[in-house]
Amino acid sequence: MIEMNNVYKKYPNGVVAANGITVDIRQGEFVYVVGPSGAGKSTFIKLMYREEKPTSGDVIINGTNLTKLKNNQVPFLRRQLGVVFQDFKLLPRLTVYENVAFALEVIEEHPKQIRKRVMDVLELVGLKHKVRMLPSELSGGEQQRVSIARSIVNMPKVVIADEPTGNLDPETSWEIMNIFEEINTMGTTIVMATHNREIVNTIRKRVIAIEGGLIVRDVNGGDYGYEG
Ligand code: ADP
Ligand code: ADP
Repeated sequence: MIEMNNVYKKYPNGVVAANGITVDIRQGEFVYVVGPSGAGKSTFIKLMYREEKPTSGDVIINGTNLTKLKNNQVPFLRRQLGVVFQDFKLLPRLTVYENVAFALEVIEEHPKQIRKRVMDVLELVGLKHKVRMLPSELSGGEQQRVSIARSIVNMPKVVIADEPTGNLDPETSWEIMNIFEEINTMGTTIVMATHNREIVNTIRKRVIAIEGGLIVRDVNGGDYGYEG
C-alpha cells in the first residue's frame, strides 16, 4: 500500500530529515509514527502525500510511484489519500457540511450522491446535528471530527494523520482515536504521527520510531518507548 525505498530528503537549508528510509505498510494496517521533536516524523508523512518530494529514493502509494508523478496528477493522488492535521485546517467561512462536501464537489460527484455521502460521514463522526455550524462555533474535538469526515469522504484507501490529537485534551483525544479505529476496522490504512504515549501504549498497533531521519524501531504491538 505504502512503500518507501531508500528515501533521502535534504531540505534547501542542508537539514537531512530522511536519511535512507525503507518501509512497507500493507493495506489495512494501523501504524503509529513516534520519535523526538525534529526526528523527521512530519517529513516522513509529508513524503507520503507529496507535500515534500524525496531528494532520492522512491515513494510508492497504491502502486503509483510519487517520484514519477506529474504535477497535474497530484490531485488524483490526493483523492486516494485522506490527510488529517493537528490544527484541523478547516475553511473558516464554510459550514461543517460545506467543509466536508468541498472535497467531493471538486471531483464533480452527482449532487444527490454528495449529500448522501457527506451526511453518512458526518453521522460516523457524530456531527450530523451540527452541519450548519461554522468551525469557529465548534470545540477543538468537534473540529477534528469534521476534518476526519473530510479526510474519508472520498473513501480513500489510506488516511495519514500528523499529530491529530496534539491540540486536544485527553478525553477528547480518546474519542478521536475511537473514530480512527472504526475507520481502520472498515479496511482503511492509517498512518499516524503522535506524541501521545498513553494512546500508543493502550491501543496497541505497529509502532515505527524515527530518529535523525532513520527508522530505529519497527514493532507490531510495540510501545511508545520514550520517557518524560
Ligand atoms: P518532526 O516531525 O519529527 O518534528 P520534521 O520532519 O518536522 O520532524 O523535521 C525534521 C528536521 O527537518 C528538523 O530538523 C526540521 O527543522 C527540519 N525541517 C522540517 N521541515 C523543513 C523545511 N521545510 N525546511 C527546512 N528544514 C525543515
Ligand atoms: P509539526 O512537527 O508540528 O508538524 P513542524 O515544526 O515540523 O511541525 O513544521 C511546521 C512547518 O514549518 C512545516 O510546514 C515545515 O515544513 C516547516 N518547517 C519546519 N522546520 C523548518 C525549518 N527548519 N525551516 C523551514 N521550515 C521549517
